Amino acid sequence: MSSKTSKFQPVLDEIVATLRPQLGQGGKVASYIPALARVDARQFGIALRTCEGEEAGAGDFETPFSIQSVSKLFTLTLAMQRMGDALWERIGREPSGNPFNSLVQLENEQGKPRNPFINAGAIAVADRLVSQARASGGSAKTDILALMSSLCGEPIAFDDEVARSEADTGFRNIALANFMKSFGKIDNDVETVLDTYFNQCALRMSCRQLARAAAFLCRDGAHPIDGEPEVTGERQTRRINALMLTCGTYDAAGDVAFSIGLPCKSGVGGGIVAVVPDRLTLCVWSPALDATGNSLLGMKALELFVTRTGLSVF
Ligand code: GLU
Repeated sequence: MSSKTSKFQPVLDEIVATLRPQLGQGGKVASYIPALARVDARQFGIALRTCEGEEAGAGDFETPFSIQSVSKLFTLTLAMQRMGDALWERIGREPSGNPFNSLVQLENEQGKPRNPFINAGAIAVADRLVSQARASGGSAKTDILALMSSLCGEPIAFDDEVARSEADTGFRNIALANFMKSFGKIDNDVETVLDTYFNQCALRMSCRQLARAAAFLCRDGAHPIDGEPEVTGERQTRRINALMLTCGTYDAAGDVAFSIGLPCKSGVGGGIVAVVPDRLTLCVWSPALDATGNSLLGMKALELFVTRTGLSVF
């Protein structure tokens, strides 16, 4: 599919030129599974898609990477689409102030996760998706692939090696799921719910694909490609953006709001999706992470972008 090139292309080229000398200098690639540990840290890509459907990309913006927690944004979207406000009976909407995979808070709050972007919250969302899919004789994994492929206008797949490794090493996620189950907060068998969660983390996409897939978030929920049918309503879309701003970047959300001022969702694969409501959606990727688990150069790139363009929600 071809799209018109955006007037922002020179800004992205300039960001790549500014950050390229810093590649490989600082930050650490996620190392909890081999498939992530062997990713070359010296990669950087940036892409955007405007509300009008214009696209721009620079650096390694066509290279697929493991989207990891960025997937939580899309499974939340799917659950809100299917369940509306009933979703919030099981999941909160407050920043957690605790590590993304913490068990402690979950115990204090009787198995109700603080928000859909910490691991417990995303696992609870996956449980809802499994229930919804089962009710119609389908599968949550198929629904997730269908949503992503529709949003991108091209086929999207899980990386089986990453999904297997997530399952082999996901002891804390297994604990979180069982813990919620013990509080009666997970309806389906834990294996199926975690298989959904591990696979969504293992989606492989490029910056170009992610900027396009998330473009409904800058269009009041209208489908990125043809506008129809809408992905989410205007109110739901505002809420997703609000959750990204307050909870989307691990424990750095306050700092990100301060220095970038855009709703963002990041993942340990080094990807970050950011939204400028009513204007455009961006995706940056660089695998080396800072101490908060966010892409080091990705955050720098977003800061440069808002400085150059003056675009921010504030
Ligand atoms: N698969 C990772 C986990 O569940 C996701 C980590 C992330 O991107 O935050 O631990």
